[in-house]
Amino acid sequence: METVICGAGIAGLALANRLHHHGWNVHLIDHAPGPRTQGYMIDFFGPGYEALTAMGLRSALHRAAGSVSEMRYVDGHDRVTVRVDYDLFAKALGGQIASLMRPELERLLRESLAPEVDLRYSTTIDRIDGDKTVLSDGTAIEADLIVGADGIHSRVRALAFGPEEDYLRFLGMHTGAFTFTDRETAERVRGRFVLTETLNRQMGFYGIGGDRVAVFTVHRTTDPVLPADPRAALCREYSGMGALADRALELCPPPDQVYYDQVAQIDMPRWHDGRVVLVGDAAYAVSLIAGQGASLGVAGAFILAERLSQASSVAEGVADYEARWHPVVSGVQEAARDRVTEWFLPTSAVKLLLRRWGFRAMNLPGLDRLLIGSLFPKDHRTVAELSA
Ligand SMILES: Cc1cc2nc3c(=O)[nH]c(=O)nc-3n(C[C@H](O)[C@H](O)[C@H](O)COP(=O)(O)OP(=O)(O)OC[C@H]3O[C@@H](n4cnc5c(N)ncnc54)[C@H](O)[C@@H]3O)c2cc1C
Repeated sequence: METVICGAGIAGLALANRLHHHGWNVHLIDHAPGPRTQGYMIDFFGPGYEALTAMGLRSALHRAAGSVSEMRYVDGHDRVTVRVDYDLFAKALGGQIASLMRPELERLLRESLAPEVDLRYSTTIDRIDGDKTVLSDGTAIEADLIVGADGIHSRVRALAFGPEEDYLRFLGMHTGAFTFTDRETAERVRGRFVLTETLNRQMGFYGIGGDRVAVFTVHRTTDPVLPADPRAALCREYSGMGALADRALELCPPPDQVYYDQVAQIDMPRWHDGRVVLVGDAAYAVSLIAGQGASLGVAGAFILAERLSQASSVAEGVADYEARWHPVVSGVQEAARDRVTEWFLPTSAVKLLLRRWGFRAMNLPGLDRLLIGSLFPKDHRTVAELSA
């Protein structure tokens, strides 16, 4: 059996690993010129963690992870308002969480690929022409399965299911991410996840080794249109939030090294059509507010590969994957919209104070597991059950 997977990101790499494991001939293509080095910090837990464990990559995941000992909020005068021991999160999740930069997660998945997997960068799907999938390098492949694992702005989705605007739900926020080098800032955030305690906008800082610092930003806006110059937009939106934020803006790299996008979800009635199927953000982006997109990308890829390996036809396998996985991710999307957004980005001083007290209560024995458990709701069916 032959497959073309478009997108060598988190979901695409995981799927390539599993389909090759089940004996498929895999062509994995990505339009980027090579592996991405820029990125942001990912907390990786839940179904994706289970799937990576089943793939034998748990130790590699923990080796690639950084060490975070504390999460803290700072106010506009850089005073600490909340401290939470990161170990509490780890304990509530039975140790099944790793915090790592997205390029590191991609690297460990890429290194897990067998040499037979045909991985091509600077390549995309040009068109799907009858039985042939025509790539931008001119190759035509008679694929039994064409997978769109090409992220929230998926080309495969556009080719097979229609325009992005039919499926993209803008959540009224923009997000950005960048890294910079600065000894003073690195010392302040080393081993910590530091967040600004602010209304309608937030910056987060992680130390990522040496004097390197990773920053992510999120702010509310009613305008879905992205700015021409993301660096200038960040400087405009996030000024006056304290010395830590000002220093990060001062050292923000040029626009082409800044990640910037809408905060959005992809909501589709159906992810498969004939030989074409979508996985990861292309099918069901949950948004950074849900904090699980990478995890759901890996888990979805795992379940898709397992169902295909057990089905009597591709049509049965993709339908089965969707029937089992769609309700799970829809639940995560709904929770992110309804509950998590206010907690993540409060819109009033009262809500901000409630969050502050909620976090402080996590340090109280007895309340810790209860409160943290509510932040990481667990689906009742494990990945093993969903795949079997
Ligand atoms: C600031 C931020 C913080 C986040 N934090 C977390 C977190 O803590 N935990 C978590 O689990 N998730 C987190 N996420 C979400 C997570 O990053 C995404 O959900 C995840 O990367 C989706 O994986 P994917 O493989 O589906 O898509 P992507 O990672 O977007 O990969 C898509 C791949 O497809 C390629 N591609 C795109 N278009 C084409 C094309 N036309 N042709 C060929 N190739 C193409 C791209 O180059 C890329 O390699 C966060 C997201 C953001 C923005």
